[in-house]
Amino acid sequence: MPEITNPQYAAVVQPVGSSPPNPNCPICGQLALTLNQEGYIEGSPCSHLVFIYIGEIGGFEYISDDFQESLTALAIEENKEKYSQGIESVDFKSILEEAGYRNELLALEINYEAKTLGDRFQERSIFAYDYSKLAAES
Ligand SMILES: [Zn+2]
Repeated sequence: MPEITNPQYAAVVQPVGSSPPNPNCPICGQLALTLNQEGYIEGSPCSHLVFIYIGEIGGFEYISDDFQESLTALAIEENKEKYSQGIESVDFKSILEEAGYRNELLALEINYEAKTLGDRFQERSIFAYDYSKLAAES
């Protein structure tokens, strides 16, 4: 079996009519998103979460300090030519590789049908988890 060295990127499609994705951390089981007191969705990061990208808002709901440093270093918004239309259409698989993540990173892309004011459209949310944080816990 060839050695896996790249960040791992899994993409799935939810059935039509499902709720927007909110996965549990594969390491500790914590839900990625919670409702705050005002009823808005917000990130509920555990120590393994690297980022939450939500297509419906066209941006990140949560970014870890490490990943923020990487994004700043890559200067995505300043290099729109390279990264096409900015973060909304960005190839996260490439970004994670360029950010230096290796096979300890799992990105889960969940495609789903979103509804806004009666319109239905396909969206994607991405949840990334860092298995290297396992070692820091024990
Ligand atoms: Zn966790």
